[in-house]
Amino acid sequence: VVAPAFDEPLENTVCTHCGQCVAVCPVGALSENDNTWKVIEGLADPDTTVVVQTAPATRVALGEAFGYEAGSVVTGEMVAALRRLGFDYVFDTDFAADLTIMEEGTELLGRLEEYLNGKEVALPILTSCCPAWVNFIESQYEELIDIPSSARSPQQMFGSIAKTYFAEKLNVPREKMMVVSIMPCLAKKFEASRDEFSVEGNPDVDVVLSTRELAHLIKRANINIAELEKESYDNPLGISTGAGLIFGVTGGVLEAALRTAYETKTGETLEKLEFEQVRGFDGLRVAQVDMGEITLNVGIAHGLSHARKLLDEIKEGNPRNLHVIEVMACPGGCIGGAGQPYHHGDVNILKKRIASIYSEEKNITIRKSHENPAVKELYETYLGKPMGEKAHHLLHTHYAFKEKY
Ligand code: SF4
Repeated sequence: VVAPAFDEPLENTVCTHCGQCVAVCPVGALSENDNTWKVIEGLADPDTTVVVQTAPATRVALGEAFGYEAGSVVTGEMVAALRRLGFDYVFDTDFAADLTIMEEGTELLGRLEEYLNGKEVALPILTSCCPAWVNFIESQYEELIDIPSSARSPQQMFGSIAKTYFAEKLNVPREKMMVVSIMPCLAKKFEASRDEFSVEGNPDVDVVLSTRELAHLIKRANINIAELEKESYDNPLGISTGAGLIFGVTGGVLEAALRTAYETKTGETLEKLEFEQVRGFDGLRVAQVDMGEITLNVGIAHGLSHARKLLDEIKEGNPRNLHVIEVMACPGGCIGGAGQPYHHGDVNILKKRIASIYSEEKNITIRKSHENPAVKELYETYLGKPMGEKAHHLLHTHYAFKEKY
């Protein structure tokens, strides 16, 4: 099947991306469900406050749809374009990625503590940011259902916080707020529709557009991003750290978690923030990380065939004694997501996007999630502590075996 050119409509287009969804497709993500019209309706309604979040990986790929070189970083142009389209608040999923680290990191340290005290505990803990991966484990590994972190993904944490904390700040009822996500991912559309992530029928995230769909929307509005002055995200849900940004690449969620877990566990400041041993492009990687009292054995898989190998090992008794595993369904992580501009299997494009994320991250002043001032304020004024009662209610979920989606 030939992928469509960018000026062709996307509605019901057959995805030619990677075939991962054949294994895990929950709701017909083989064809893209384009909900752009819903966004346009929301933007046109003066009584609706429309909030948008952009995932880490979108900023290094959107430019490709406008003729930029692969991996070009267009964060400021994307933010400016979203404002021209009429969004009331332009926020960053990186903020919620930092929040994810606070919750997931606390959960990891809690489980490790119990493990070190000789208690029976579910290890390795698995990252749970990738909905395709969650669907995969829920449908194919019933016996491992208790090992993923219960932390919601950054997209869903954002939606939950936007429609509670932020809506309350604005004094806007949740029914009058529309949360739109710009994601590199088609599985995120399904994730947003899960019953667990709505309150009395009102979803935390109303509409998910892929990076490609955003490019279409911008073009339909006759906006040329190259002509826009760069703009910054709004506050407070637009404040983020380098750790949040690296969620977009394979190994990034784990590295972000290690930065926070190391400093929390040892009480020492990391001299070097880069955990080179978890970086790379091999489909399945294992590494050791010194955490003071314990040496962590970590595993990283991208692509579900590699994830399957790792899970089969764990089913057979976890011979490598892995403590933490990061899995991303797409090659390269979210930068290679099925909603990104097509890369037609060109690994060099994926590698350029990854390189851009890492070089961009080096220029960010704050690079550890637990130092994000907006996240700190959120805990101080609203949530209490990580894994506390309110945080658990708003930021965590549960998993169940589903024979068939
Ligand atoms: Fe979506 Fe792929 Fe990222 Fe998973 S790895 S969240 S499927 S883009």
